[in-house]
Amino acid sequence: SDCSDCLVSFIIIITPLKTPLGLLLNYDRNSIAIQFMEFYNKPQYRCTKIKITFLSVSAARKPSPIRVLTELQQRSPPSLISLAGGSPNPNTFPFQSASIKVKGGEALVMDEPLMKRALQYSGSYGIPELLSWMKDLQKSLHNPPTTGYSPERGQMEMCVTTGSQEGLCKIFEMLVNSGDNVLLDAPTYSGTLAALQPLGCNLINVASDQHGMIPADLRKILERWDPADAQKPGSSVPRVLYTIPNGGNPTGASMTCERKQEVYELARKYDFLIIEDDPYYFLQFQKVSSSDLSLYSQRPWAPTFLSMDVDSRVLRTDSFSKILSSGLRIGFVTGPKPLVERVVLHIQASTMHTSTFTQVTPLTGPVHPVSLLKQQPGFLLFLRVIEFYRSQRNTMLSSADKWLKDVAEWHPPMAGMFLWIKLKGIKDTQQLIMERALEKEVLLVPGGVFHINSSDPCPYVRAAFSLSTPQQIDEAFRRLADLIKDAM
Ligand code: PMP
Repeated sequence: SDCSDCLVSFIIIITPLKTPLGLLLNYDRNSIAIQFMEFYNKPQYRCTKIKITFLSVSAARKPSPIRVLTELQQRSPPSLISLAGGSPNPNTFPFQSASIKVKGGEALVMDEPLMKRALQYSGSYGIPELLSWMKDLQKSLHNPPTTGYSPERGQMEMCVTTGSQEGLCKIFEMLVNSGDNVLLDAPTYSGTLAALQPLGCNLINVASDQHGMIPADLRKILERWDPADAQKPGSSVPRVLYTIPNGGNPTGASMTCERKQEVYELARKYDFLIIEDDPYYFLQFQKVSSSDLSLYSQRPWAPTFLSMDVDSRVLRTDSFSKILSSGLRIGFVTGPKPLVERVVLHIQASTMHTSTFTQVTPLTGPVHPVSLLKQQPGFLLFLRVIEFYRSQRNTMLSSADKWLKDVAEWHPPMAGMFLWIKLKGIKDTQQLIMERALEKEVLLVPGGVFHINSSDPCPYVRAAFSLSTPQQIDEAFRRLADLIKDAM
């Protein structure tokens, strides 16, 4: 080992695969260095090194002993007698049971034992039933190659978060230091900008178009660094790239598989992590059938970054917000075990866990959406949701064609719930929307809020097709066309 302050250092050679793999792990208190060696053609091998240095605040976090006990208790048989935790007695709570009617289904009853569980503290990773089902789903949808690599580094781990927003915030808190360079699509989700900007990092815009992040632009940006410097202490080589691969917010853009591969190769070359924020994954409009969506069938959509992650550098955030309920606040972080473990340390010290009530709700009965999703017919729920948003998207595109053809430009989104519209002859939509749109009784989001510098002029607006009726969408675009013509 060349790592003097290592607590642990060892090498594992994994041979049963077609391409033997070597894995060298160096742990110390503040970082984990992992070196993958793929012995393509002995004695040459391709070697990928990842060194992740956690921020001092993150590195200083220790597992909460009480939370660890809660985790243990959650996995223990009911015969265990625990005098350990300081949990309140749920018998003192005033709630006894609940009944939830599922559309087109029976009423779900949260009976007394389940209710007691729902009202109690639970483990910080998430409740075991939901987690184990989500792990199966992730493996079947993304089949991350790391699962076969090593029990230490490569194993996929997951935790439940209070919406994917919490996962993103915790990931950034763990990885992004003041002064660090962070790469992200321009424009991007305003919630991500809100989480990153106070950290004092340098946000670097990577250009995007209707197919998402443009790898050629990323390559050009990265050329100012020497990849060999990535491992050096104090190096300014970006450590993190954040992207929304499907139905981007605000652009509606979805990245092609080729682009993802190019970005992934650049991540390997310059050794940065990819944060794949994919809340619109289940809202992809390509035709899929229920058999495509069966848990054990081929994956229905383009491969994700997680699915191509041969050296454990992808952290993925998923969300139930767009398919089950945004108010339930259920999201997931998926990625290499040591990183997810650290996200959980942050959770332990803040929210402790996502609401148990929320997590238990999906388990209330055989007809609840999440229980349903486990079975083949349950995927019909996804299909219904996809069908709804596809039809809304089509409605919005027809109204845009009808009213905005001469005054605006757009690309049809292939996923998500947003249309990104460029207004012709308008330099900046901020003033137009904030001052004049209200007079016309139409509201859209001015594009500037999705940029690092929100006061830079931006000729775009974001229109959501999720909530309004076809009549409202049509009328809104008629009013918008009027507004643009007046302004021109
Ligand atoms: N990422 C993106 C790109 C989003 O659009 C949103 C929601 N608007 C989120 C994350 C957060 O979603 P949630 O916390 O509801 O899962």
